[in-house]
Parts: sequence; structure tokens; C-alpha cells
Amino acid sequence: MRDGTLGVAVIGTGRMGSDHVRRIDEVISGARVAAVVDLDGERAKGVAALVDGCAAYTDPAAAMAADDVDAVIIASPGPAHEAALLEAFARDLPVLCEKPLTPDAASALRVVEAETRLGHRRVQVGFMRRFDAEFGQLKAVLDGGGLGRTLMLHCTHRNASTPPGFTSRMTINDSVVHEADVTRWLLGQEITAVTVLRPAPSAAAPEGLSDPQLVLFETSGGAVVDVEIFVNCGFGYQVRCEAVGEHGTARAGDAHGLYVNAAGRWGGEIAQDYVVRFKDAYDREVQAWVDATRRGGVIGPSAWDGYAAAAVCEAGVRAQESGGRTAVTLAERPDLYRAADRS
Ligand code: NAD
Repeated sequence: MRDGTLGVAVIGTGRMGSDHVRRIDEVISGARVAAVVDLDGERAKGVAALVDGCAAYTDPAAAMAADDVDAVIIASPGPAHEAALLEAFARDLPVLCEKPLTPDAASALRVVEAETRLGHRRVQVGFMRRFDAEFGQLKAVLDGGGLGRTLMLHCTHRNASTPPGFTSRMTINDSVVHEADVTRWLLGQEITAVTVLRPAPSAAAPEGLSDPQLVLFETSGGAVVDVEIFVNCGFGYQVRCEAVGEHGTARAGDAHGLYVNAAGRWGGEIAQDYVVRFKDAYDREVQAWVDATRRGGVIGPSAWDGYAAAAVCEAGVRAQESGGRTAVTLAERPDLYRAADRS
């Protein structure tokens, strides 16, 4: 590290990647953006130009080989993650990899196996809800035991609208993957089976997209989790999770920001997207990654967590297509991840 500052290469400079570049440049301490990479060279150059001393590349391997690159953020689309992760492992570079770890369970397991061969953890997966203050409070309440055993989770995941080409399969792999991780994290249990119910679609749903859907998880500890996924709800971005325990309930995600009374009405604004709603969580996630990396450690969701979520999604897509209850198949967890920090 130059002057004790972590030199980061950000791979993929689209919505998330460019936001992480801005975050490291403006918010995060102890790190600088040394390089950005995008297959679209003009986009990479445009983002690099905003940061002093930042180089632009079109090849992830070339950026990772640069002298001043100490660590990598992968924010390219999911199908490009495996190659970038394996390249980072070859150079033993620490990685913050945006979710999903990879788009399917088989490729996610290959990543787990490659990291296991490396012999130490190098990956933090970008499940940022684990760094959201309110979700953290919910986790602390459940771990504290005051509500008794958690019996059910009721989750809501709504987006204002979807980009062109967003498919029903993506509602599971790109959206519900967050609830798969949140469920495993909050309950400390594996998800054993998935069922997907598809009501008659909303008139606002693009042709061919099942929207909304109700996804049901069963867990190894006997809990049941329902997830309303509604990706063209039209009015904003909302993520909620209510835990129902033996002695009470606790809910994260209800109210955010300013509460206004005016003109005979009460209320406030609904965030329109995740970049706004989870801004603080992304800041904490990246700062935690930088701090742990500078100390030579790794925290947060592991490659195993990324694989387990991918296995749930694979069962979810099969359940969506068959209409039936589908069991989740999980490989044996390598020892490397047994003592993994589940923060
Ligand atoms: P995007 O389409 O806006 O940007 C992706 C960028 O990567 C594009 O500029 C593209 O040219 C570039 N790219 C494609 N293949 C590449 C490769 N092989 N090497 C380098 N660059 C490449 O996508 P996005 O919305 O920014 O999503 C990026 C990642 O972030 C995805 O994994 C996505 O699932 C994840 N994401 C996470 C959250 C979250 O809440 N944590 C939210 C949105 C997206």
C-alpha cells in the first residue's frame, strides 16, 4: 500500500461501480481509487477523469496487475464475476464482489472451491443490508432472544420499475437473492425449500414478466418466510422485514427520512431506488471492507454465503417454473467457512 492507503481497482463503472468510485473518493477513509475498468473504454475514461491519479482499463487482469492496485471491487454484471474473482485469487487480492456472487450455484461453488484452495478468505459479498443500521438492530433484537424463537419473517421487496429485458428469473436471481441472504443471516439457519406463487400479473408488468410474486422459504430451524417481490409497483423502492417471535414482533424498513404534516396530510417521501435507500449501508459496507483489508482480515458475507444464496435462487427459479415446492441442494460447507464471521 502506498502511504498506508489501499489502492482499489473498481471493475465495472455502471450504476453501482460509478457510485462506489464516488463513495471511495468522497466518503471512505484509508482508500483511493487507483484504477477503473469497463469493457466500454470511453465510460471507464470518463469515470477515471473524475478522480486524481486514477487509470482507466478495459481488461480487468491488466488493472489487477498494476503496481498501485492492492484490492478489487467487482461491480460488473453477475456473469462476469467468476472470471474476475479467479483472476483476483491468482494475485491473492482482497475482493468486495457485488451480489450475486455469480449467476448460478455451480459457478458460485467453483468460486468457493477456488478460495478454499487458496486457503484463506479473500471475498466479501455485497449483501449490503447486513450493514444497514435498522437491519442491524433487527439482528441484535433477534440474537438477544427477548422475542423468543423466530417463527416467521414477512418480507416486502418493491421496486418502482424494471429496466428493459428484466425477466421473471431475474426477480429471483437479482432481487430475492437479498432476502435469501437476509433470512440466512437473521435466523442463522439454512433455507431448505422454496415455493413461488404467481398471482395474475399487474397491468403495469411488462409482457411476460410475472409481477408481483410471493416467494416462500422454509428453513432448517422450522421457520417460514414470505417475500412479496413486486418490481414494477410504480411508487418507489421499499424493503421491509418483520420478524414474528414467540413473544413479540420487530420490523425494519418502515419509515425513512423526514416526517411532514402539511395541507391536511401526514407523511414523507419514499426513496425511488436502492442507491438512495441504502446509501448509508453501502458507505458502511465499503468502509468495513477497507478497514478489514488494511488490517489484513476479511469480514462480512463470505463466498459461502454467496454460494448458499445462489443455491436458494436456483431452487427458486425451478419452483417458479414448476409451480411446486422445491428443495434446496447445498454442498458441504468447507472448514474455511465454518468459523466465518457472519456479521
Ligand atoms: P450496469 O449495467 O449499470 O453496469 C455494469 C458495467 O459493467 C457496464 O458499464 C458494463 O459495460 C461493464 N462491464 C460488463 N462486463 C464487464 C467486464 N467483463 N469487465 C468490466 N466491465 C464490464 O450494472 P449495475 O446495475 O451497476 O450492476 C453491477 C453489479 O452490481 C451487478 O452484479 C448487480 O447485481 C450489482 N448490484 C447490486 C446492488 C445492491 O444493492 N447491492 C444494486 C444494483 C446492482
